[in-house]
Amino acid sequence: MKKSRIPLSIKILIGLVIGIVLGLLCINNGPIDKVFFSNSEMTALKMLQEYIKPIGDIFLNLLKFVVVPIVLLSIISGIISLSDIKKVWSIGIRTIVFYLCTTFIALVIGVIIAMLFKNKFAVLDVSEAAYKAVETKNFIKVVADMFPSNILAPMLNASMLQVIVIALFIGFAIIIAGDKAKAFADVIESGNAVFIEIMDMIIHFSPIGIVCLLSPVIAENGPKVLSSLALVIGIAYLGYILHMIITYSSMVSFFTKVTPFEFFRGIAPAMVMAFSSASSVGTLPLNIECTKKMGGRSDIVSFVLPLGATINMDGTAIYQAVCTVFIASCYGIELTFAQIATVIVTATVASIGTAGVPGAGVVMLAMVLQAVGLPVDGIALVLGVDRIFDMGRTVVNITGDSACALCVSNTEASKGVLKGLKTKNK
Ligand code: ASP
Repeated sequence: MKKSRIPLSIKILIGLVIGIVLGLLCINNGPIDKVFFSNSEMTALKMLQEYIKPIGDIFLNLLKFVVVPIVLLSIISGIISLSDIKKVWSIGIRTIVFYLCTTFIALVIGVIIAMLFKNKFAVLDVSEAAYKAVETKNFIKVVADMFPSNILAPMLNASMLQVIVIALFIGFAIIIAGDKAKAFADVIESGNAVFIEIMDMIIHFSPIGIVCLLSPVIAENGPKVLSSLALVIGIAYLGYILHMIITYSSMVSFFTKVTPFEFFRGIAPAMVMAFSSASSVGTLPLNIECTKKMGGRSDIVSFVLPLGATINMDGTAIYQAVCTVFIASCYGIELTFAQIATVIVTATVASIGTAGVPGAGVVMLAMVLQAVGLPVDGIALVLGVDRIFDMGRTVVNITGDSACALCVSNTEASKGVLKGLKTKNK
């Protein structure tokens, strides 16, 4: 394929700007309506929804179609190249500890800033709030559901936790079987190479995909940013930004040679994709590319990122903390210390159980509200602007995954387990 001279990351940023500007021009009764559709049934927003959004959907569907094979094959080939079950466990445990610690910090940041502003929150009339809660799962159920009873169903339904469990079993079995599994391992490696090429082809279309995904969302939700919910949206975004700047920057600078500036520049294309698609899973292919470019070890990145896209949701955790405090304030309920501790514990579990797809975090918010005894109906207060929260929380979710992959890559290299990576200790 002929390489264009403009780097993909710049094209993606251009896509972001075009998407936002086009969206703003197309809001109801906006400039395009006034000039072109003043006397017609058609509106600019309808035009975006009917003709532009489907193109964005094609792009998102293509990303989703490649995600299951990429996760399955890349985790297995990551395990094969680590070639030692103990090493996989040690990386796995370090990854999970990293994910849990950052989620905990995210929740603390979310709770603190929400508490600081809580007196300004009681702005909405709760009498009309009515939300039908979907049944939520407790922790044991989340864990039990990770184990598949069928090898194909998880792949057909894109149940990522189950796909990861299948990949772990196959990877470990290949290592144990040794030479006898060589042919099978070769098939996996070669399949992995093929799907990485497919992913590369799809990612080339991301600038167009981003314009088509983002513009209808901005046109539809843009005016809502100015609603009475502006404060709570602003506070959630403040939490997202603080967490990325404080937590991820310090972890990346402590564990790796990458500076925070290089980190955010390197991850920017994936952040734009996450913002436009509100899907960690859909952003996974691009996140893998960006993280490898920043020096993440291929075998570690292939293992840590799919896991993160499924269980590590720091942005979702911040959103849950902020919205819980907000909903409590709207109902005039003062949260006790015990309730706040419950928010932190349940929101950690909830963020693990949240799927990396648009809107999944709202369902889990119901679980947090129930755990602290708040009215689940309160979700109706934030539901109308969920997409705006979701775009930001997805950016945080994928950025945390990438930071973890870089840190784990470097800690392994500095232990001398992996060779060839620039490490802090060299
Ligand atoms: N959309 C988020 C993600 O994909 C999940 C959520 O709704 O919080 O990471």
